[in-house]
Amino acid sequence: MTRLLPIPITDDHIHIDPVNGRGLEAAKDFRRAGGTHLFLVSKPSWSFGITPGKGEDFIPVFEGTLSIARQIREVGIMVFPVLGVHPAEITRLAGIMGLSRAEQVMLEGLDVAAGFVNRGEAVALKSGRPHYEVTDEVLEASNRILRRALLLAGECRCAVQLHAEGGPCSDVVEMAREVGLPVEMVVKHFATPDTPLVPSLIARHEAIPALAATGRPFMMESDYMDENSRPGSVIGPKSVPRFTRRLLETGELSEEAAHRIHVETPSRTYGVEIQPP
Ligand SMILES: [Zn+2]
Repeated sequence: MTRLLPIPITDDHIHIDPVNGRGLEAAKDFRRAGGTHLFLVSKPSWSFGITPGKGEDFIPVFEGTLSIARQIREVGIMVFPVLGVHPAEITRLAGIMGLSRAEQVMLEGLDVAAGFVNRGEAVALKSGRPHYEVTDEVLEASNRILRRALLLAGECRCAVQLHAEGGPCSDVVEMAREVGLPVEMVVKHFATPDTPLVPSLIARHEAIPALAATGRPFMMESDYMDENSRPGSVIGPKSVPRFTRRLLETGELSEEAAHRIHVETPSRTYGVEIQPP
C-alpha cells in the first residue's frame, strides 16, 4: 500500500486567462486535484487584444499576467510568473509591419520582460522560434530573437522557457553556451526526452516513468491554454497532479522521483523555493 504524503505538485507551464478562458476556476481545479505550485506563462499579445508597435506595448501583457498571478496566489497556490514574447508573434506582426520591424518589437519586448525579472516580479523568460514551417528569413530573425532572450537570461541569471519546433533543439545548447547561460537553465517546453535541454514533459507523456527511473532532471506541465474557444485542444489544468498521483499509486513513479520532478528540478532550474503544502 503506497502511503501518499502531501507533496508539492508543480505545473511547469500553464496559462490562466480570465478573459478568454475559465480564469480562477481553472486554477481552483488545479488546486483541488492536488496542485500546489505553478509556472504561469504569459500569453501572446493578441490574447489581450494588443498589437504591439514597440516594446513597451508588452507592458500590459506582462502586468496582466502578474495580476492573474496575484489572484491565483489568493486561492492558495504558489505562482511563479514567466514572461516573454511568444515566438508565433513574428508571423502576425510581420504581416502587419514587415519582418524587420516585427523583429525589433519582439527584441524590445524581451528587454521589457527582462526588466520584470530583474525587479523580482517574474522568475524566467519565455522565448523560442516558430513550431511550424516558416521561411529562412523568419527562422533567422527568430533565432536572433531567441539569442537575445538567452543573452538577457544570462545577464539576469534566470532560466528561459523555450517554445520551439518538435525534436531535440540541440543547436540551442551552443547558443546558450555562447552567451554564458548554463544549459541547465534552458527549459524545453512541450519536450521530448531526446532534448539535451531541461525537458518539460506534457503530463501524459508515456516516457515519464522510464525517464524518471534514470534519475535525469525533468519537469511536468499541462500546457493548459485556458481558452473557451478551444476546450478540447489541450489537456486540462488538473493533468499534472492527476498523472503524478496515478503514477505514484501504480508504483511507476517513486516518491523520490516525484520529489525530483516537482521540487528539486524546478527549484534548481529557476532558483525558486518550493515548499511542501
Ligand atoms: Zn503554452
